[in-house]
Amino acid sequence: MVAGSRRWAGLWPLALLLAAAGMAACAPAPVTAEVPDAPAGSPAPRDAVMGGVVVRDALPGSASGPVTILWAGDTLLADAAQERLEQNGYQWPFEHLLPLLDADYIIVNQEGPITVLEEKFDPDQRWSYNAQPEAAAALAAVGIDAVGLSNNHAMDRGPVGLADTIRHLDEAGVRAFGAGLNLAQAEAPLLIDTPHGAVGVVGLSLDWGANRTAGPEQAGTVVINEQSIRRGYELARAAGARWVVAYVHWGANYEPVGRREREWAAGFARAGYSLVIGHHPHVQQPIDVMDGMPVVYSLGNFVFGSKGRFDRDYPGYGLIAVSVLGPDGFESLRLRCILTDNYLVQYQPRPCNPAQSEAVLSSLHPGVEVQEGVGVFDW
Ligand SMILES: [Zn+2]
Repeated sequence: MVAGSRRWAGLWPLALLLAAAGMAACAPAPVTAEVPDAPAGSPAPRDAVMGGVVVRDALPGSASGPVTILWAGDTLLADAAQERLEQNGYQWPFEHLLPLLDADYIIVNQEGPITVLEEKFDPDQRWSYNAQPEAAAALAAVGIDAVGLSNNHAMDRGPVGLADTIRHLDEAGVRAFGAGLNLAQAEAPLLIDTPHGAVGVVGLSLDWGANRTAGPEQAGTVVINEQSIRRGYELARAAGARWVVAYVHWGANYEPVGRREREWAAGFARAGYSLVIGHHPHVQQPIDVMDGMPVVYSLGNFVFGSKGRFDRDYPGYGLIAVSVLGPDGFESLRLRCILTDNYLVQYQPRPCNPAQSEAVLSSLHPGVEVQEGVGVFDW
C-alpha cells in the first residue's frame, strides 16, 4: 500500500504474552501493546493462544475481490550506496521501481539492522551492515508495509542493533517479523487480515550460529528445520491465519537451488503452508510446485546497496512477485523481472526490458506465461 492509504489494525489488539516470553526483561517491543485484562470467564484473546507476539495488520476490501500481496527480496539502504543515499535521499533508489509497487500489501526482506551503531557484533564477519534510521521512513514512504528480518544480517549490530531496527521501523509505521529480542518475538508470525481470511507469514532462516539464534531470553532469528516449519504453521493458525506463507532466507549466494531447500520445501507443503517465498542467494531462482503449493525459491535482490558479485552465470536479475488471494486461497502469482546489478544500474534498480523479462520469467517454470512483461503463473 502507498503511504497514507494504510489502515492500521486498530480493531485488532496486538497481544503480548509476557509470562512465557520473559519480555519484561527486554527492551520494550514496539509493535506490541499490553493485552487488556479479559473479563473473568471469557476466552483467552485469540492472538495469545500459542503465546508470543502477533504482529497484525488489516486490509480493507470486499469479500469477492482479489487481495494482492507483493513480495520483494533483499533490501539494504546502506553500504556502497551510502554516499548516493546521502546525496539523493533514501527514496532515490526506488525511483524506477515505484510503478511496480502496486499491491494491497508489500513485504520485503530487510537485510541489515537499521541503527547508528557501527560496531560489528561478530568481528570476524566478512560482510556486516547497518542502515541509518532514515532508511525506515523511506521504506514506509515507498509503500512498504512490513519487512522480514529473518536473515543473516539481522544481528550484524547485536541485540541492541536489532532493538533499534524494530523501533525505527515501528516509528515509521512498518511492521517487522522474523527476528526478535527473544524467541517469542522472533517466531511470532505476521498476520494480515483480508476479506478472505487472515494470511499468516512465518519468517525462518538458515542457522547463523548460536549467538544469532533466538532463545527464550536471547535475541536472534529462528532456524529453519522440520520442527520450526511445523511450529511456524501452528503459531500462525493458532493466531487466526487461514492461509500460511513461509518467507524464508535460505540457499547459497549466487548458487542454484540446493537439495536442502527442496527438502524443506516439501516439509512446508506437508505442514500445510499455502506458499513459500525464498531469498538470500542475491539472484533469482526457479519456481516449483509441491503438492499444490508454489515455491519461489529466491526472489534475488530488490534494492540492495552492496556492489554485488554478478557474472554471466549469475546475472543480476531479481523478481517482484505479487500473490493474488481469492476466497479459496492463492490463485496466481504475477512476476516481474528487475535489473539489480549495481554495476549496471548504479544503485537504482529498474524494470527489465522486454527481452530480459521474457528470458528471465519464462525460465522460472514452464507454466509461467509472459504477457507484456508480466509472468503469470497459475498452478
Ligand atoms: Zn542473506
